Amino acid sequence: MELISTRNDSLTATLSEALRRGIAPDGGLYVPRTFPSLSVGDFSTSDALPVAAETFLAPFFADDPLASALGSIVHEAFNFPVPLVRLGTAEDVSLLELFHGPTAAFKDFGARFLASCMARLHRQSARTLTILVATSGDTGGAVAAAFHNRPGIEVVVLYPKGLVSPRQEMQLTCWGGNVKSCSVEGTFDDCQRLVKEAFADPTVAAHRELSSANSINIGRLLPQACYYVQSSLANYRRTGELANYIVPSGNLGNVLSLVWAKRVGLPIGEIVMAFNDNRTVTDYLSTGHWQPRPSQATLASAMDVGNPSNMERLRHLHPEWQALIRQVSGRSVSDAQIKARIQSADRLLAQTLCPHTACAAEVYERLSQAQRAKPWIWVATAHPAKFPETVEPLLGRPLAVPPALARLLSLPRQVTEMPATLDALKAVLA
Ligand SMILES: *Cc1c(COP(=O)(O)O)cnc(C)c1O
Repeated sequence: MELISTRNDSLTATLSEALRRGIAPDGGLYVPRTFPSLSVGDFSTSDALPVAAETFLAPFFADDPLASALGSIVHEAFNFPVPLVRLGTAEDVSLLELFHGPTAAFKDFGARFLASCMARLHRQSARTLTILVATSGDTGGAVAAAFHNRPGIEVVVLYPKGLVSPRQEMQLTCWGGNVKSCSVEGTFDDCQRLVKEAFADPTVAAHRELSSANSINIGRLLPQACYYVQSSLANYRRTGELANYIVPSGNLGNVLSLVWAKRVGLPIGEIVMAFNDNRTVTDYLSTGHWQPRPSQATLASAMDVGNPSNMERLRHLHPEWQALIRQVSGRSVSDAQIKARIQSADRLLAQTLCPHTACAAEVYERLSQAQRAKPWIWVATAHPAKFPETVEPLLGRPLAVPPALARLLSLPRQVTEMPATLDALKAVLA
């Protein structure tokens, strides 16, 4: 498949090139020049994620050096369950549980897929490949887990000091070996800026092969589309209707994957984004005026993004504001509403939600009766046990920790502290 930069459609790349580069040479993001077109009948009736994923991804991998490895990549990457759990309510609502991977958040899908691709692409290379990743909480742990101990590859994770939850921080810093974890004196936006500066700096790129595992990498977006493919097909077989989704959103990678799956032709209806109190996107949707701003700390910390990178892809697909707001909508949720929703979901639905998933639950309550007559899927982005300091006091009881997560939390911490400057990052890389 031919990919182009969002900023210049004559800057093209193959999928493998885009996976390696992360970002286009002009600073734009890679997107398909044209989207493939698939319909329900193109998919087998198997419910297995790797099977649906292979059908969906085949056109994106067509003519690429990785094409023949696609089957083994999806089986290696998607080796954990993705339950679509019906809530026992009168309305048709299901929870898409994306938190059964090694680090208990949906970032495991993209990270594991990307690692499987990169490991295959890098096999012939003599130079070390450095994966540079900025994280607002869950990405870094997932990327570190996925790349840990991969030969010829090192990972440098940047996270904002004091702005990730204690358990997230343990998952970011428990690796050692080929993983370096850096606690940056700044915000997530600073971390993201440092990654961009490192890529733009010729002295950094001269000494190493550099790649990014942020959601700017198209290798994160494609695997995320796969669970929308699988769940929308399951919903369609059960109800004969389109699946409508509410996606807890920050940097807009997860929701963009959903937009792409719909664009390819999957049975997907409304796409609703749930935000925390970072209102850059909701303000844009209501005013048509794009005004990025500093991120603000909330209980749904993995969504604390003031200048979401994937907006560039969304606006590339729908350049007109009027067209964009017909495709997606979004609502913001305050910390007080997150807390109240975690309590009511526990009481009324017997569901323990993480603070991010609670935003989706809250936004569902604001839908109209007509909207709620249709099947809805809340995207559950993380396991609640990653956020005990928020969830446990609200429920008045301790949460059971999944065994894979418990093991990571028991490992010793290895971390480098640094100011938010390119020079400091260069020193870490040296
Ligand atoms: C990353 C993350 C989000 C936000 O996803 P984006 O792709 O950045 O929009 C939401 N919830 C959790 C738990 C996350 O880790």
